[in-house]
Amino acid sequence: MKLNNIWTPWRLSYIKEADKIKTCIFCESFKKPDRDSYIVYKGKTCFVVLNIYPYNNGHIMIAPYRHVASLEDLNEEERTEIMDLMVKSIKILSSEYNPHGFNIGINLGKAAGAGVEHHLHVHIVPRWVGDTNFMPVLGETKVLPELLDSTWDRLRKAFNRVA
Ligand SMILES: [Zn+2]
Repeated sequence: MKLNNIWTPWRLSYIKEADKIKTCIFCESFKKPDRDSYIVYKGKTCFVVLNIYPYNNGHIMIAPYRHVASLEDLNEEERTEIMDLMVKSIKILSSEYNPHGFNIGINLGKAAGAGVEHHLHVHIVPRWVGDTNFMPVLGETKVLPELLDSTWDRLRKAFNRVA
């Protein structure tokens, strides 16, 4: 007799949930139409996608297509393209949003705050004086003046112009 099934029926849904989490949101994203996954630009080895839980307007992420976890796993082509896309992103976000600065970073590992720890991605967050002082406090819901769809339209066009 499996007591587990009687006393902890919720475990089944927990296990099902845990199974689902095995699929990687980055690997899934570029299989869908760009608009559905908010991809603003597709390069040769890497792509640029909006963060759907943005810290600020224009919060984007750059990731390689390959499912790799750390910087040392990237090949030379990917390293070069990530850097190139970082520069392009900064130029585009600067002209579209006029931020006062940027936070750019990679969270390596869960302990460092990586939400998706097995697929490397670079965060680029535009910042304005007075928005909030420190990124870790931004875990809470914030009211963002611009909707995700209009951010996508705007950045998609801008990336197409630059590319
Ligand atoms: Zn992946």
